Amino acid sequence: KLYNQVQDLKGSIRVYCRVRPFLPGQTSVLTTVDHIEESTISIATPSKYGKEGRKSFTFNKVFGPSASQEAVFSDTQPLIRSVLDGYNVCIFAYGQTGSGKTFTMMGPNELTEESLGVNYRALSDLFHLSSERKETFSYKISVQMLEIYNEQVRDLLATNGQTSRLEIRNSSQDGINVPEATLVPVSTTSDVISLMNLGQKNRAVSATAMNDRSSRSHSCLTVHVQGRDLTSGATLRGSMHLVDLAGSERVDKSEVTGDRLKEAQHINKSLSALGDVIASLSQKNNHIPYRNSKLTQLLQDSLGGQAKTLMFIHISPEVDTLGETLSTLKFAERVA
Ligand code: ADP
Ligand code: MG
Repeated sequence: KLYNQVQDLKGSIRVYCRVRPFLPGQTSVLTTVDHIEESTISIATPSKYGKEGRKSFTFNKVFGPSASQEAVFSDTQPLIRSVLDGYNVCIFAYGQTGSGKTFTMMGPNELTEESLGVNYRALSDLFHLSSERKETFSYKISVQMLEIYNEQVRDLLATNGQTSRLEIRNSSQDGINVPEATLVPVSTTSDVISLMNLGQKNRAVSATAMNDRSSRSHSCLTVHVQGRDLTSGATLRGSMHLVDLAGSERVDKSEVTGDRLKEAQHINKSLSALGDVIASLSQKNNHIPYRNSKLTQLLQDSLGGQAKTLMFIHISPEVDTLGETLSTLKFAERVA
């Protein structure tokens, strides 16, 4: 009985699916999305993919093309709030390039108040909630921003150029951490905006050299929370990783060579390592293969145990992305 209870605490994993709208100008494009309900999405497929040319997938929640950033966030909010109670939380954006991962996490290039993504809203909510508790608790919130590219960890908040090949360490005091990465205390939303801008700029530097690197690297905004109960003096520690994953599209091995092939292999390896970890957690396996990629090593103590995980999978609506859409849905089905 006790064993079962302990097992039940293991891994709380949720999967949300979000379908991007057509882009401006794409008025008469055909869509693969046949039907969306609360938690089910049906995809219209040529008959070779399934009976009657339709295949349905069920997740914790499905957001259609008209779902607002606010609506998407409001379903995410309870998870984020648990960080202040000392939980570790991981939120991922998964999907092929162009499916809306960065839109969900950051927002569009031209940000407005309505279009702000999960990252900003999450921090703003943490500030708000921690100030509501300030009579009883004192909180310190700080952030790091990392990029994993070709299995190397870079600091996106570095101002001194020392950014690459950072080591992931495991200490009894701090758990998994990257001590060399810049750690910035934050207390206002404008602190957050300027850090995100710096992070985006550091990402863009490499992008000019290697054309849209952002779709071929994982970026991770890590929020560290330290809390102290003002009456008892007890302390707690929570963390949140907000991860914009590299594009999940498969590249045709016959068409790419050299650096591009190496990138593709690294992405493939780390996304399948992530899938393997989450699938083993949801099957409650005893062995969880964290060691197979930098991404899963970095997130080790925020995946499994009492940590809470939310995977946002992203779908492009166009018919010509059907193959990738189905592969994204199958990935999600495996981890759900
Ligand atoms: P990814 O990060 O997966 O490559 P993006 O987030 O860059 O994809 O999205 C691709 C394009 O679609 C961008 O121009 C983005 O602003 C737009 N877009 C994505 N999702 C939405 C959405 N839910 N509503 C409106 N525009 C969106
Ligand atoms: Mg992106």
